[in-house]
Amino acid sequence: MANSVMNATILAELKSAVGEQGLIVDRNQVQTYECDGLTNFRTTPAAVVLPRTTAEVQAVVRVCARHAIPFVARGAGTGLSGGALPAEGCVVIGMARMNRVLAVDLENARITVEPGVTNTQVTERVRAAGYFYAPDPSSQTVCTIGGNLAENAGGAHCLKYGFTVTHVLGCEVVLPNGEVRWFGSEHGVVDALGYDLPGVFIGSEGTLGVATKAVLKIVRRPEAVQTLLAAFSTVTDAAQTVSDMIAAGMLPAAIEMMDRLSITAAEAAVHAGYPMCEALLLVELDGPRAEVDAQIDEVRALCAKNNAWEQRLAQTDAERVLVWKGRKAAFAAMGRIASHYIVQDGVIPRTALPKVLAKMQEMSDETGLRIANVFHAGDGNLHPMVLYDATVPGEEDRALILSYDILRLCVDAGGSITGEHGVGREKQCVMSYMFHEPDLATMQRVRHAFDPQNISNPEKVFPTPRLCGERRHGAYAPHPVEAAGIAEVF
Ligand SMILES: Cc1cc2nc3c(=O)[nH]c(=O)nc-3n(C[C@H](O)[C@H](O)[C@H](O)COP(=O)(O)OP(=O)(O)OC[C@H]3O[C@@H](n4cnc5c(N)ncnc54)[C@H](O)[C@@H]3O)c2cc1C
Repeated sequence: MANSVMNATILAELKSAVGEQGLIVDRNQVQTYECDGLTNFRTTPAAVVLPRTTAEVQAVVRVCARHAIPFVARGAGTGLSGGALPAEGCVVIGMARMNRVLAVDLENARITVEPGVTNTQVTERVRAAGYFYAPDPSSQTVCTIGGNLAENAGGAHCLKYGFTVTHVLGCEVVLPNGEVRWFGSEHGVVDALGYDLPGVFIGSEGTLGVATKAVLKIVRRPEAVQTLLAAFSTVTDAAQTVSDMIAAGMLPAAIEMMDRLSITAAEAAVHAGYPMCEALLLVELDGPRAEVDAQIDEVRALCAKNNAWEQRLAQTDAERVLVWKGRKAAFAAMGRIASHYIVQDGVIPRTALPKVLAKMQEMSDETGLRIANVFHAGDGNLHPMVLYDATVPGEEDRALILSYDILRLCVDAGGSITGEHGVGREKQCVMSYMFHEPDLATMQRVRHAFDPQNISNPEKVFPTPRLCGERRHGAYAPHPVEAAGIAEVF
């Protein structure tokens, strides 16, 4: 079926930018790109391009800039907040073909990759030399480095090693006007001079341009790793154990928690052999062998003090892999116990865990919708999953409302509406619940400086009156720069 949305001149320009094989306009084929991992929102793009080089991305963006057409970069489409959701009439720039590892520099512990390389491929490339790439989203076998940069992706081991932003030394970006720039160091040198442009770009969810190369830090594999499972009868006991570990000055590589519902789902999918309990802690320590051996005894003592009724140390690599397989499959495993679900992503102070989880249970009882919880307990990053049945009239809407109420609960507890999945399209309407209007306006100014035409992944991140228009923090006060007519808010 031919594309009727985009005019022939623009299509011809896009074709000359990426070649015939790199342009998809057939209505049935472009539909493949209508959503990301958050399938509740869908928009069919006008066209999809699959560039192979920075020059091709640049040529596409120039076409978009010339005609003021929105474009949306897309990695693997595993995002859970609708970040890669197409804008109306947009060009999706799929990065799947830019998937080469360009340079490996073991002496300086860094690797240069194109954005379509998957997270796991980075580690695979340096594993034999004793290195790994630390940020480890559960989607790591599929999600791309470009998507990881845009979302500042995290993962279980980011408690110790830090999020994506800690591991990017520099990146090449095609700006929304088609210029190509390096943010940070092209040669991977740690450089603290000037504005932290990689810091601005990383986590900007595709709104400031398209990443076309990244120089990443790689990390030496630790000498020893120990992985412990501990089963508790209450969330309070498990949460107290987490607080006790941090208070004792420990920094485990990971501290994850799963509730009964998540354990049930993960067991059905992966058969990890988890003990069935109200709160399961998964603690991993890594580092020099002597240090790990001493600390694991301390961790076990804290678990026992807080009434853990079973503790199990992985004895082999195979056992450790199975423990992690269950945890990392937890989102997908929900399909075993519910036909539909929404994965939320909020942050709370660790100390608020028992109170917030108890309140969530109340909300679940009130709405009759089940909520499963699996999360990065060490940094208070919750992933509540609201389970529903879309064939029941009205249930999807109730699930969405409940998932937003959970985010407000996180903010009220002193936390945040996202820890690692981004705001995207999904959480725009709770941005105003978290930020004051002038703060949002300041962020808009940054966006506007990069993208005055508002074509790079528009309609994402910021609340718009059309979509929600919530205003919690009082009237908007124009910035003096805006009042003087030097900059404008759009
Ligand atoms: C089962 C499952 C488990 C997950 N677990 C985690 C987890 O543990 N931690 C975590 O952080 N996330 C997790 N996620 C969410 C998701 O995998 C991450 O957000 C990931 O970083 C998205 O990468 P992607 O390649 O799929 O990006 P996409 O979904 O394609 O895009 C995400 C965003 O990045 C932008 N983008 C993509 N490529 C570029 C580029 N080259 N330049 C500029 N912008 C770009 C898009 O416009 C969009 O805004 C999980 C998702 C699933 C489905």
